[in-house]
Amino acid sequence: MDLIFLGPPGSGKGTQAKWIVDGFGIPQVSTGDIIRAAIREGTELGQEFKSYTDAGKLVPDELVNRMVADRLSRDDCKPGFLLDGFPRTVVQAEALDALLAEMSRALDHVLLLEVADIVLLERITGRRSDPETGRVFHIKFDPPPPELAERVIQRSDDTAEVLNKRLEEYHAKTAPLVPYYEGKGLLRRIEGAKGTPEEIRDRIFAVLEA
Ligand code: AMP
Repeated sequence: MDLIFLGPPGSGKGTQAKWIVDGFGIPQVSTGDIIRAAIREGTELGQEFKSYTDAGKLVPDELVNRMVADRLSRDDCKPGFLLDGFPRTVVQAEALDALLAEMSRALDHVLLLEVADIVLLERITGRRSDPETGRVFHIKFDPPPPELAERVIQRSDDTAEVLNKRLEEYHAKTAPLVPYYEGKGLLRRIEGAKGTPEEIRDRIFAVLEA
């Protein structure tokens, strides 16, 4: 199953992606995770990435497109993939269409997790993660246990200031993908603010299993 996960920053894509990956046996391909790994490695490219992510701006299409082409060509993507955080612009979506055509593959669904901006602000600024395990917490909704309280960190782009810029980028550059995929009959809208994460997961699974 070849899937795209679309939704604004903080809409819960990362949390839901884990369940989809386990349920359908396909890898999660998160461009944000790949970019953060390059930043941690401290390569020259990583440093270039950081100048964009810290400003809440999108990394240039060409760099991201190449990263994704490389990742999707690996063996673990043969049964399918869940793209998380890609495409984020119409240029990226067109590059993905061309890549998939070359690979004789086609998208099955584009899931859109819908959450209002006001909800995203609270979710994102409270988000903390454990650098050792990658587990994500929320200081109010899902606080880390006391023994991890000192260890958890905030992503440098999860501040209110950077989030506002990321949301601006989302509405200007990523939101046009909604009509793009709607026109192709691939868009599946999922209510992402109401209910528990498990209830939202069940909504997604109902679509994927239909
Ligand atoms: P994310 O973890 O998906 O929120 O991504 C974090 C940051 O990585 C974004 O704010 C962008 O700076 C960069 N990024 C991730 N995916 C992409 C993409 N597909 N195109 C451009 N920039 C991206």
